[in-house]
Amino acid sequence: MATSLAIPASILAKAERQSLVPADTPWYRRTYRWGQTNITEEDPARYDTEWWREHWRRTRVQGVIVNAGGIVAYYPAADPLQHRAETLGQRDLLGEIVTAAHKDGLVVMARMDSNRAHEPMFRAHPDWFAMNSNRVPYRAAELYVTCIHSRYYEEYIPAVLREIIQRVHPEGFTDNSWSGLDRDSICYCETCARTFRDRCGAQLPRTKDWDDSNYRKWIDWNYARRLEIWDLNNRVTRSAGGPHCIWSGMLSGDIESESQRFRDLKAICARADIIMFDDQGRTNSSGFQSNGEMGKRMHGLLGWDKLIPESMAMYQRIPTFRKSSSPEPEARLWMLEGIAGGIQPWWHHVGAIQEDRRQFHTAEPVYRWHEANQRYLVNRQPIATVGVVWSQDNTEWYGRDQAESSTVLPYRGIINALIRSRIPHLPVHIDHVGREPGFPLMILPNIAVMSETQAEALKQHVSRGGSLIATGETSLYDERGSRRKDFALADVLGVHAEGERTRPGCGGPADHSYLRLSPDMGSGERHTVLRGLDETNIVGFGGTIQRVQAVSGTNVPLTYIPDFPVYPPETSWMREPRTTIPAVVLRQSVSRVAYLAADLDTRFARDNLPDHLLLLQNIVRWAVSENVPLQVTGRGFVDCHLYEQAGRLILHLVNLTSAGTWRAPVDELIPIGPLDVRVRVRQGLQVRTAKLLVAGGETSVSADGNWMTMRLPSILDHEVIVLE
Ligand SMILES: [Zn+2]
Repeated sequence: MATSLAIPASILAKAERQSLVPADTPWYRRTYRWGQTNITEEDPARYDTEWWREHWRRTRVQGVIVNAGGIVAYYPAADPLQHRAETLGQRDLLGEIVTAAHKDGLVVMARMDSNRAHEPMFRAHPDWFAMNSNRVPYRAAELYVTCIHSRYYEEYIPAVLREIIQRVHPEGFTDNSWSGLDRDSICYCETCARTFRDRCGAQLPRTKDWDDSNYRKWIDWNYARRLEIWDLNNRVTRSAGGPHCIWSGMLSGDIESESQRFRDLKAICARADIIMFDDQGRTNSSGFQSNGEMGKRMHGLLGWDKLIPESMAMYQRIPTFRKSSSPEPEARLWMLEGIAGGIQPWWHHVGAIQEDRRQFHTAEPVYRWHEANQRYLVNRQPIATVGVVWSQDNTEWYGRDQAESSTVLPYRGIINALIRSRIPHLPVHIDHVGREPGFPLMILPNIAVMSETQAEALKQHVSRGGSLIATGETSLYDERGSRRKDFALADVLGVHAEGERTRPGCGGPADHSYLRLSPDMGSGERHTVLRGLDETNIVGFGGTIQRVQAVSGTNVPLTYIPDFPVYPPETSWMREPRTTIPAVVLRQSVSRVAYLAADLDTRFARDNLPDHLLLLQNIVRWAVSENVPLQVTGRGFVDCHLYEQAGRLILHLVNLTSAGTWRAPVDELIPIGPLDVRVRVRQGLQVRTAKLLVAGGETSVSADGNWMTMRLPSILDHEVIVLE
């Protein structure tokens, strides 16, 4: 059987000693380091198996991803219509690599790409391919795009999977691009027309129209189809390759792009044994920290006992140069942030031979460190008192075609503010609010779409004494993105919606508005959410305001000042310096609730202004009543990840301070320190040592009740402190 021949007993025993993994643990629960040479069509003539085996050994990988079939076959496939790699000839490159990997005790995932095919396949089976409304096939360069509703996915791909299992017995499968056309392209092939009519009793939508009932049905039908394909492929691979021969299509952690591809992250994680992430690196706007965030968000769905390897580019990513090496510090920080967020590293090279050899030195030091410390990096539970709610339905039905500005930025602004404030937090799927009673504070960053059931769970959270921060249009729309008359959460927020989200103006540029702090400095005591702003009555704003009526008993510490001209300077004076338009509304009873009518979350994601950061940080600290289990003091941009395992606490600090932090790529690491760390440990945890997994050795700890204090002299890229 494919699943039992792979791992020599000696290697398993060693792995077991190092990670305390029981011998019967399936491969997808114990393969912590991955590598992938993405084989191009010219590689079969020049792939040097012995060189790559040596690279696998150097980088301590336990699993490899090997190109198998789909768009291009790397073995002599039985069906001549499956396009063989240009230089393959009669070589069975797939077989050679899998045999070598198995000999070395490595797990193999065979990599497919079922999204496209070459012209001969299209000529033979035109009904397997996606068509636009003029019955012209969708093309991607010289390839033809397959239709996910067609028999290509029901018959052809399963046959290829069975053939590969029979030939080489991979442990499992992954697929680079498995989910067909995205939301922007409607397929009008005969299969789609017939199946949609049979299943949904409707004609295919003629165009994208979010408010058209056929278009809505078409979206639901497409989401369901991706899950069908996921299940179908798993039935095929398990029945042909054994119960652990699983199929796991690659996903991205980006909610917006996954919505465009009809991939329901919650439903997929509910059925997946491993998630294969394809996120090669960061953008300037998302930052390295997005990798830690994605890891934690996906583990929240998948569980912390499962693994999420992520493909990480060893080549230059933005702009993309597939053959040039990524600057080493850039690739390293991306890897480290992922590892800190619970992701497993997976180096990725495109092509079997590289003229820029520097990329082959990037993974090894990180992987060797990972191997030495792997038991602290998996099977751990995160610790946080702040939950940040996310919702794919909100991205889909409220975000629609503007999801970046209306859903991604508010979420990112909150996450970035929490990271910059060094406040441990975790993403929480909106359907899991009710099962996560452990968070004293839940934050809702413009979660506009909300069902009655979801709203009820949040009301229960508040009635149990839980605190809440909600921004913008949170709960103002139903499941399908139709606007309600008032917030579903109006009662708990202490505000009623009054009209649209706008930028009330005085004729200036829309981004030249301000917020007024109340009361004026020196004229009375200010609320703690204004702490640190004692020398000013105003802060710049420039965003939108959801117009609301605050109920009595609430506190409005910030109001809106409409825009006024910037140029010429003579005209730059406030036309309406004081209004009663609430920007932030606070309510304190058994719990603390803050409603942000001003979109400070979006503003911070976009503008990075320290005043907005300070306000967000103060509001969070007030709402959570300073119940934050970590304090890290000292200069620098540090992402702090806090976990526990039985009998120990693990703090992973990643130093993102660099000239290239906000302008990729990073080409040098800048050390920071000293950092003073105070961390709260669980009642009863007797801390004897604080081990440093990067600097090595131990550091002294002083205890004050449940709080442990220590000093880190310096951090270059990252440090992991283990308290036990
Ligand atoms: Zn179709």
